[in-house]
Amino acid sequence: MINHLVRKNILNLKPYSSARDEFKGTRAVFLDANENPYGNLNRYPDPQQLELKQKLSQLKAVPAGQIFIGNGSDEVIDLALRIFCEPGKDKIMICPPTYGMYEVAADIHNVAVVKVPLTGDFQLNVPEILLQSERLNPKIIFICSPNNPTGNSLYDIEPVLQNFKGIVVIDEAYIDFSKRTSYLGRIKEYPRLIISQTFSKARGLAGARIGIAFSSEEIIRLYNRIKPPYNVSALNQKAAVKALDNRQDYEQQLSDILAQRDWLLKELGQLDLVQQIYPSDANFILISIPNATHIYQNLVDKKIIVRNRSAVVDNTLRITVGTPQENETLINELKNYEKSPVYR
Ligand SMILES: *Cc1c(COP(=O)(O)O)cnc(C)c1O
Repeated sequence: MINHLVRKNILNLKPYSSARDEFKGTRAVFLDANENPYGNLNRYPDPQQLELKQKLSQLKAVPAGQIFIGNGSDEVIDLALRIFCEPGKDKIMICPPTYGMYEVAADIHNVAVVKVPLTGDFQLNVPEILLQSERLNPKIIFICSPNNPTGNSLYDIEPVLQNFKGIVVIDEAYIDFSKRTSYLGRIKEYPRLIISQTFSKARGLAGARIGIAFSSEEIIRLYNRIKPPYNVSALNQKAAVKALDNRQDYEQQLSDILAQRDWLLKELGQLDLVQQIYPSDANFILISIPNATHIYQNLVDKKIIVRNRSAVVDNTLRITVGTPQENETLINELKNYEKSPVYR
């Protein structure tokens, strides 16, 4: 059903097959992979990450055959380009301001980027998306919701799902922080839909590099054909399984972060300095502030690092919700800045 969207060389590819792919059992005499027989990280990891997929399958109510695990979502994005976009020929569509990796990945693959900016209130410009996709036939559209760096959820995804002719990637890196429902349930209806999630944000495993793609079996099979055989290390698989088993910490941290987001919103709202606070469904807050770059540098000098997003939205800083102490340090510094002669 999607073969017309897939690059010919990928359809014709004879994938690498490891001996571990062919032998499914455990506790055998393994003399196939030139490993050192001694030690505890001496064996190659499970190339299919089955234990992790089974846990995710239960948690998310998605069959394991519709789950791909990547070395971070960055790999999920990169492989989508490799599957669908012919270098020097095909295009993707993005809706800036949004996550920077879509464009970087496209640039790496020499794939053109069609940009349909978000509207003034950072929502999808649906008529323009559909018009431009009709005209230019981008293979993939990347939709980030909740969106990075603006923080808001995108409301009008439905008409894109129904009318876009290529692959729709919905990047839900921040979905855990949002009250809105995930589009995960929709992969049954839309075989060209890929939902990208990650362990890097709410699950607290940015250091372990675990990204997830949920999609149709057909697309997941393509991912599996082209992925590096051992793309997720044994240590990382284990860390991810452990994180899923530890529901309590996850829920506690999530509620702490959401409470701290509210606290930051309240405190930021009381600062004269802050011109606008954008609504957030994520674990960060985008604010408009005059002389943002100057204030950013001032914070860096105090060893407080926020993200200066002025290059993508004029005079803005993106602030990640930290621990209560970290958040207080930031607010105190902004208060000091307000009192300083530079500001007054
Ligand atoms: C942080 C982030 C990711 C996560 O990327 P990983 O490679 O999984 O760490 C994905 N998408 C967006 C929009 C993000 O902000």
